[in-house]
Amino acid sequence: MAGQPVIESVEVRIFSTERGTVHAQPVPGQDRGGVDLALLVLRDSDGQEGYAVGQPEVLRPAQLRDHIAPLLVGRPVFGREAILADVYRRQRGQQAHLPERTICRIDVALWDLQARRLGQPVWRLLGGARPRVPAYASTMRGDDVPGGLTDPRAFADFAVALAERGYRAIKLHTWHPAYGEEPDPRRDIAACQAARDAVGPRVELMLDPYHWYSRTDALSLGRALEELGFLWLEEPMAETSMAAYRWLSDNLRIPVVGPETVAGRSQARADWIAAGATAISRIGPLNGGGITPCLKALHTADSFGMNCEIHGSGAASLALVAATNVSRWYERGMLHPLVDYETPPPHLRAIVDPLDPDGTVPLSEEPGVGEHLDLDYIEAHRKAAY
Ligand code: MG
Repeated sequence: MAGQPVIESVEVRIFSTERGTVHAQPVPGQDRGGVDLALLVLRDSDGQEGYAVGQPEVLRPAQLRDHIAPLLVGRPVFGREAILADVYRRQRGQQAHLPERTICRIDVALWDLQARRLGQPVWRLLGGARPRVPAYASTMRGDDVPGGLTDPRAFADFAVALAERGYRAIKLHTWHPAYGEEPDPRRDIAACQAARDAVGPRVELMLDPYHWYSRTDALSLGRALEELGFLWLEEPMAETSMAAYRWLSDNLRIPVVGPETVAGRSQARADWIAAGATAISRIGPLNGGGITPCLKALHTADSFGMNCEIHGSGAASLALVAATNVSRWYERGMLHPLVDYETPPPHLRAIVDPLDPDGTVPLSEEPGVGEHLDLDYIEAHRKAAY
C-alpha cells in the first residue's frame, strides 16, 4: 500500500445552526428554529478532510471512541469496501452503537473524502450519467395547521402552485395518525382526485399515504389511483410483511414502489425484487446505510430491468439519482405552503438542489458529495468536539 493515503483521525464537531426545512413539520413562524448538528470529519495522512453531517444523537462520543474510530483509523482512504465489511460485521450485536443512520455518515464521509482527493463530485464517481435530473415535488404530510395541508382542496391548491413553479411531477404525503381522525383511504382518494382535477393530465402524480393500511384498504386505494392515472403507490402498508406487498403487486396494475424503510440495505431490495413484491425498487442513503448500498441497489434493479427511486432529498440522494439512468426522479422536499425550502440554513453556502424553471436540478461540479458546507460558519459556531 506504499503511497496510498490512510485515514489518520476521526473527529466529531458539534455546532449550532438553524433547522433546515427538510422533514420538519410546519410550525408557522418557527420553521427556522435553532438546532445542534454534528459534523463527522475524516482526516487522511495528507491532511485532506472528508465530511458528513448528522444529528448529534447518531454521532455520540462513545460511538466515535469505541466503534467508528477503531474501524476507520489506519485504513486506506480508497479501501471503502473492506472498511464497510468490517462495519457491517461489527453492527451485528452492536445496533445501538452502529445504527444505519450512523453507518450512513461513515459511508458518506468516505465518499466525500475520496471525491475531494480526486477533485471530482461524488455523482460523477458513482457513474456520472446525468449532469441534470428531473425533480418531483414531495409534499409534507397532511396536517391540521391553518393555511396548511388540511384537506383535499389544500392539496389541490398546493399542487397548482408547484406545477406553476415548474415541477413535472408531485408526490402527495397524505394524513398520518397525528392529524385528525384515523386515516381513511377515501380521504386519501379525495385528495388525489382533487390534485388530479387541479393540475390535469400533464403533471405526473404519486401517492405516499398512511403506512399502516390493511391489504384491502391498500387495494381499494391503488385501484382508485389507477383510475386517476397516478404514476406509483408508495408504502400504503407496513413494509415488515413482504408477502403483503407481493399480494398487493399481484392485484394492481399501478406500480407499487418499495421498500423504503426495511432493514437489510441492498440485500433486502434484491429479495423484494426476486419475490415480485415491487415494480419499482426503492432505497435511500439516510436510512439505507449510505451511498454504497444505494449504488448496489441501483445496479441490482437495473440488472432486473427495473427502476429504483431514491428515497429522500439531500446531496447524497441527488448524487445517486444523477449517477445512473435507473432512477427517474429526484425527490425534492419536503415542501409545504408555509415553509421556505429555497433558503439554506446558515451552515450551508447554498441549497444542494436548486430547481430550474423546467423542473430539473443541475448537479454541482464542486468536489465532494455536494453539501456546500460553510466550514467557517461551523467553526465559529462550534459547541464541542470529540
Ligand atoms: Mg416514502
